Amino acid sequence: MSSARAAPVEIHLADYRAPDFYIDRVDLVFDLVPQETRVRSTLQVRRQGAHDRPLVLDGEGLTLLSVAVDGRPLAAEEFVRDEVSLRLPIPGDTAVVQIENTLNPAANTALEGLYVSSGNFCTQCEPEGFRRITYFIDRPDVLARYTVTLIADAEPYPVLLANGNPVSAEALPGGRHMARWVDPHPKPSYLFALVAGKLHAVRDEFVTQSGKRVDLAIYVEAHNLDRCAHAMDSLKRAMRWDEEVYGREYDLDVFNIVAVDDFNMGAMENKGLNIFNSRYILARPDTATDADYAGIESVVAHEYFHNWSGNRVTCRDWFQLSLKEGFTVFRDQEFSADMGSRAVKRIADVNVLRQFQFAEDAGPQKHPVQPKSYREINNFYTSTVYNKGAEVVRMQRNLLGAEKFRAGTDLYFSRFDGQAVTIEDFFGCMSEVSGLDLQPFRRWYDVAGTPVLTVSDAVDGGRYQLTLRQSLPGQAGIEPFMLPFTVALFDANGHPVPLDGQAEHTLVLRELEQTVSWAIPDAKRPLVPSLNRGFTAPVQVDYPYTPEQLAVLSRADTDDFNRWDAFLRLMQHVLLARIRAAAEQGKPGTDTLPEDLSTAFGALLHHANDDPMFVAECITLPTESYLADQFSHDTPVVWIHQERRRLRAELAAAWASTLHLLYRNHEPQGAYHFDGRSAGQRALRRQVLSYLCALDEPAWWQLAAQQFATANNMTESFNALLALSVTGGSLFEEKMQAFEARWRQDPLVMDKWFALQAQRTDGSALARVQSLMAHPAFSFKNPNRVRALLGSFSRGNLLHFHAADGESYRWFADRIIELDAMNPQIAARMASVFNTWRRFDGGRAAAMRAVLEKLHDRPDCSPDLAEITGKALG
Ligand code: ZN
Repeated sequence: MSSARAAPVEIHLADYRAPDFYIDRVDLVFDLVPQETRVRSTLQVRRQGAHDRPLVLDGEGLTLLSVAVDGRPLAAEEFVRDEVSLRLPIPGDTAVVQIENTLNPAANTALEGLYVSSGNFCTQCEPEGFRRITYFIDRPDVLARYTVTLIADAEPYPVLLANGNPVSAEALPGGRHMARWVDPHPKPSYLFALVAGKLHAVRDEFVTQSGKRVDLAIYVEAHNLDRCAHAMDSLKRAMRWDEEVYGREYDLDVFNIVAVDDFNMGAMENKGLNIFNSRYILARPDTATDADYAGIESVVAHEYFHNWSGNRVTCRDWFQLSLKEGFTVFRDQEFSADMGSRAVKRIADVNVLRQFQFAEDAGPQKHPVQPKSYREINNFYTSTVYNKGAEVVRMQRNLLGAEKFRAGTDLYFSRFDGQAVTIEDFFGCMSEVSGLDLQPFRRWYDVAGTPVLTVSDAVDGGRYQLTLRQSLPGQAGIEPFMLPFTVALFDANGHPVPLDGQAEHTLVLRELEQTVSWAIPDAKRPLVPSLNRGFTAPVQVDYPYTPEQLAVLSRADTDDFNRWDAFLRLMQHVLLARIRAAAEQGKPGTDTLPEDLSTAFGALLHHANDDPMFVAECITLPTESYLADQFSHDTPVVWIHQERRRLRAELAAAWASTLHLLYRNHEPQGAYHFDGRSAGQRALRRQVLSYLCALDEPAWWQLAAQQFATANNMTESFNALLALSVTGGSLFEEKMQAFEARWRQDPLVMDKWFALQAQRTDGSALARVQSLMAHPAFSFKNPNRVRALLGSFSRGNLLHFHAADGESYRWFADRIIELDAMNPQIAARMASVFNTWRRFDGGRAAAMRAVLEKLHDRPDCSPDLAEITGKALG
């Protein structure tokens, strides 16, 4: 396949112009052959406005066979073609353009456009893959009605799928067959999809609120038929939820999902034909963990919800990406919250935001939720667009209240149905239904960086006073953000202190500095403010909490999110102080476990019987990479690793018997079931076992080995391995081998094993990763395998990836170069681990910088990788 691309140019939001032509109808006929697929396309085009510019179609890596306009074939000198486009004159205001081209799906390793995965044809068109299938105006504001005919050999490709509803199918001479699909809804080209292959379906049905029956199917390879039940169940619950919560009904006769093994992202919301990375569909109790079950539930829902937020109402251009992604993430977050524990879901979502989005926002790849320019749009499917985008929608919901927000989304869906619109249009609706002036709120879409809210308090004449000051790191003279900020107050015993008689207040901040005060009853000092409860705004709160205050909140805050956050701050406080001290002294600390922390830990354990999932979240230590993110220079990788371990062992030693009791009391009974209570028990046992195994006592390792041997589900068996991995040793080695022997034929399960191997800190991790590249279950062409082994090594093994000699950096960069030739999207994502180079000491920083330069300066560097490495170098 030709990988030649146009020299990347910077594309600016400010340069948006409506297209010169619209395409109202598309008729596509595919003759599917792996090495040479033929596409015949018939386009009904319509001139937009009065101009005499030619029709310019996008097309990349295609072989053009013929072009005709209104039935007349064009001679070669009548059109102009280059690497990325085809231009032809259109005589009147409308025309029928017919194009024939071929392409080679079998050679497509970039997994963008039409490709072959496990012998089946599938597509990925978002954002700009359709131009790799046929010539088209490949931008989201060109909406067309599609008819698609698929022709293929019947034996290897019995199943032929496309968007919309099936209308006909027939056998053809020579062992071939055809199927035709019509999608009645106008859609942009990025939502086009087809699938052809040897697939088997799990079927079900759904009756919509207005009584229409929809046939549901999940297509997988035959051996995976017994792993679709959870995805199907999640789909039906998502369909019902969108009717109940947003009044959104499904709009076709069929809804099809296909699971494919080779996929760059999580899943894709193609109209009526969602295509999924198989890891977000396939689950059986013995192969998938609770985290996998939760991931499937949320991704299935996410893609389904796009049917309205993304498909029926779509984006005008790619600068509006968060219009669909931020909103849809918010929708899937709320769905999952309604299906399980709301507080735990919020904790998980904020964890993702802080670990990935805050880091992105503080580094060279920082950009607003609505970027102002890009070179390669694939690089903008980011945590900022998705997760911060969701927070920005959540703030609007919180500012308006649930009822008005619903009125706003109703207005948005009805007013813009069938159109390609902007972020402005969305919050215009919110403003219209609420009468709120949201203009100041726009800054959340326009300004990069995580705002800091510096809070101070005082008690004065029976009043409690808070002063809140906004700032943006590294920027002077900023304009204020508008944000909802919920606060409450506690006394030193943890009793709530009403503010003007109310348990909590939601402030709407609009000024750079604001002071508010409330009358308070007499209360036992010191008073303890609970700030940004439920994480109402995506900001860093900077308040000089004492350990004593944090201990009070972690025991008594009535907001579970802040209770979790207080304990996290307490752990972080101790850990960071110890890491800094160790780095200064050049040797591990010897101080004893602080009393406040130990007591708070114990108090949480005593709450575990009521809410095991919540307590499991609370006692989870911050990850090494999160701790590393807290350093702006000379990140002390060795001390982060060692001090985190030391704290784990100390807490375990102080509370060993309680931990052991919890372990035994929460043993789940009977067959595996994915529900809040039993998943919570497993989550608690996972944490408990990891603490216990951090002690240098073989009895606890035996307990983990026992769990590994007797578990009837993947969650418990893999958690045992995780616990054993902390101390390494021959028992761990033995169980890893047993796991491999049992699962080596199962790639998704092996991803867990590869990831755990890559994160091991015993022995030479680099040598281990190098040799695992040759493991029969590994494939460099499969993004899931690459993420499991290489992604986990670079992001999950702080100690060894950042080894002082720079060997890991150099080896990893050479793998990125190899990846770039096959799959630039994945190469670019892997390379972003080097974004942080400035935050390391001189030797490491120089080594990381050198590999960035090496990656960037290659003549054949892809635009994807060039943009990432270029920004990292600054
Ligand atoms: Zn999405």
